[in-house]
Amino acid sequence: MVSKKDTPAASRFPWMICCECIMINFVHRYKVEPKSKVSLRRWEPGDHRAFSGEKKDAERVLLKLTEQLSQLQEVLYAEHKHKILIIFQAMDTGGKDGTIKAVFREMAPQGIHVSSFKVPTAEELDHDYLWRIHKCGPAKGEIVLFNRSHYEDLLTVRVHQLVPEDVWRKRFAQINDFERMLAEEGTTIIKFYLNISKKEQKKRLQERSEDPTKRWKFSPNDLSERKLWEEYMKAYEDVFSLTSTAYAPWYIVPADRNWYRNLCVATIVVDALKKLKMKYPRPRLNRHRQV
Ligand code: AMP
Ligand code: MG
Repeated sequence: MVSKKDTPAASRFPWMICCECIMINFVHRYKVEPKSKVSLRRWEPGDHRAFSGEKKDAERVLLKLTEQLSQLQEVLYAEHKHKILIIFQAMDTGGKDGTIKAVFREMAPQGIHVSSFKVPTAEELDHDYLWRIHKCGPAKGEIVLFNRSHYEDLLTVRVHQLVPEDVWRKRFAQINDFERMLAEEGTTIIKFYLNISKKEQKKRLQERSEDPTKRWKFSPNDLSERKLWEEYMKAYEDVFSLTSTAYAPWYIVPADRNWYRNLCVATIVVDALKKLKMKYPRPRLNRHRQV
């Protein structure tokens, strides 16, 4: 009799048949092709079809991916050549913090940091909008995660009319130029939009206001922002249509299910890091010398 232990893992867990296939599925399914016109109505926040397993299976795959990420980060740090910038944008409760916590949990703290961009300070407002952004970018060997970013200057700023249209309109091209410069100087840029539905946001805001462990995150501002949902979606659609480029692509990740969102982000990051074909540097030590 063949015990469960002897059966190939792939027949017990069909989703394991090909981790590479999962990867290809995610990367292609959710990438915004440069110059394509995005209508968010066609991007389902509840989609989970690129993975055939269930939530518990996803957790196992995620564990593997986070271990892979940790190994890739070590080579990235040792090689000291590439810089990695990962941008997260989402509506309130979209899950930026949760994604960062789950996907990057195995990373060595010395090689990664998170920059959160809030309402600009008076000093920041006295400079151009990229001033505070540029100085937070990654150095060689580092991974930097942006929790919100310069895209707020095309989203909140547009929706709330904080600057005139002729000012924010120019920013699509300015941001593309800025990101191209970073890419040409050795930065790999990956941009994620965590796509939650308006219905899911309602549920999450309710949870936030009722759960004492989540209430601290709740801001009355979230409710007034929610009223502007349609305006935000329009602004996001323009962002995706005009700033997804070969050197800094956007991924629109279904985010109504946290486990699927995490799997998706982890897979896309692993794929991007693998493509860099990083190598440990040659040792500088003379091996023939006695230690
Ligand atoms: P949170 O990330 O939920 O803590 O909120 C940060 C707040 O800062 C959000 O309401 C953003 O819209 C706001 N914010 C971030 N960047 C900018 C910006 N450049 N201009 C105006 N508001 C911004
Ligand atoms: Mg908030």
